[in-house]
Amino acid sequence: TEAHVRAVEASRPLNAFITETPDQALAMASRADAARAKGEAGSMNGLPIAVKDLFCTAGFQTTAGSHILEGFKPPYESTVTANLWRDGAVMLGKVNLDEFAMGSSNMTSHFGPVVSPWSPGTLVQRDAGAEEGGFLSELTAAVRQPHPVQEWQWTRKLVPGGSSGGSAAAVAARCAMAATGTDTGGSIRQPASFVGIVGIKPTYGRCSRWGIVAFASSLDQAGPMTRTVDDAALMLGSMCGFDPKDSTSVDMAVPDFRAALTGDIRGLKVGIPKEYRVDGMPAEIEKLWRQGIDWLKSAGAEPVEISLPHTKYALATYYIVAPAECSSNLARYDGVRFGLRVEGKDLKEMYENTRAEGFGEEVKRRIMIGTYVLSAGYYDAYYLKAQQVRTRIAQDFEEAYKLCDVILTPTAPSTAFAIGEKMDDPIAMYLNDVFTVPASLAGLPGISVPAGLASDGLPLGLQILGRPFDEATVLKVAGVLE
Ligand code: GLN
Repeated sequence: TEAHVRAVEASRPLNAFITETPDQALAMASRADAARAKGEAGSMNGLPIAVKDLFCTAGFQTTAGSHILEGFKPPYESTVTANLWRDGAVMLGKVNLDEFAMGSSNMTSHFGPVVSPWSPGTLVQRDAGAEEGGFLSELTAAVRQPHPVQEWQWTRKLVPGGSSGGSAAAVAARCAMAATGTDTGGSIRQPASFVGIVGIKPTYGRCSRWGIVAFASSLDQAGPMTRTVDDAALMLGSMCGFDPKDSTSVDMAVPDFRAALTGDIRGLKVGIPKEYRVDGMPAEIEKLWRQGIDWLKSAGAEPVEISLPHTKYALATYYIVAPAECSSNLARYDGVRFGLRVEGKDLKEMYENTRAEGFGEEVKRRIMIGTYVLSAGYYDAYYLKAQQVRTRIAQDFEEAYKLCDVILTPTAPSTAFAIGEKMDDPIAMYLNDVFTVPASLAGLPGISVPAGLASDGLPLGLQILGRPFDEATVLKVAGVLE
């Protein structure tokens, strides 16, 4: 923990952390030591992690990346983080994100963009310090020697992806052994792909949403962002489980995800959806995808071509459903109950002033789209229609899973882009999510696993999607690709 606290300080140029909690980290670490001495070590005992600043942490500022929540100290703890602390994990701090998790770049954060630890052409920092591997090898390396103080140098500053950009950067830069993320339309998987780490979004209902600042409630899911698949399996096991405080939490036994990592995928059918060969996809990404198919084939799996015919409507559907839900969820930020208040001559003006000053551009855009598609004259044409298409998209997957056990696709249509790019073109930004949103709409589990480097020297991820609640198989296949 001490080594990681130093690494967090040394990595401030990344702007990954909104709040550092070194005292809390050291206190939690000594509690973890005491538990270990008594033979009561939990599965995450003593592992220092970063928490996306969308998870409420009792007594510690939780901002959701927004000015409107600046200074908000929740009186309660999210279920997911409570589960991690129960199992002995240590909190290093709260990490940066797109405002209210709306974005694919971390550029919409009120606290400024996060800089990826990667830089084109150079394997910056990747192998600095600790040896390759996950928690266990990291732990030994961290104990043996202090984490190296890093001299950050970039040939070009890139985004770490979003919305879980701070989580991705902190893990990739080795400031944290792992981080929590949330994924509404790709926010765990896309940043994992951009910085070369593992990120899994479990099935909707697997992790409790209680105490996570809501963006789009029918899509939001928490999940781990880690350096290895084994770490992801371990951490997911701690994060998930039934929670009566979330009515969409599913009462189902949590399997031993690590036990599933046998490496044996012989006979497994891997679906390759033909609709994911989108126009304009860089040849490199197509090549990586083909290579992924070959790797799984040589491990004994059988690729099968499948069709997900409604894929082409997924992005449009998502960008109706998610803003609609966000416009409703964000109505609660009125200057009365949480965070920022900007006074006015009467109550109405106070609401207006607070929201005008408290929300950023992207959040306002989504609230306007959301209220529009939910308004009386347009509800049927947009929102209702989107819900119908969402059902079709889910049915496509149901049909596909009659023919295959998992689905393999690229995670994102490109490698990381430069900070500042695409900000004046929301549609170009939304196109980032083309491969991740279909599974979000269908509530399915999906992982991004680092699969190689593009010619620009930047990481690329492959995505594996699974059947509902079959994270075990998703992790197993990811373990083979790793
Ligand atoms: N990029 C998507 C969006 O902006 C997904 C965000 C997320 O998963 N939280 O909505």
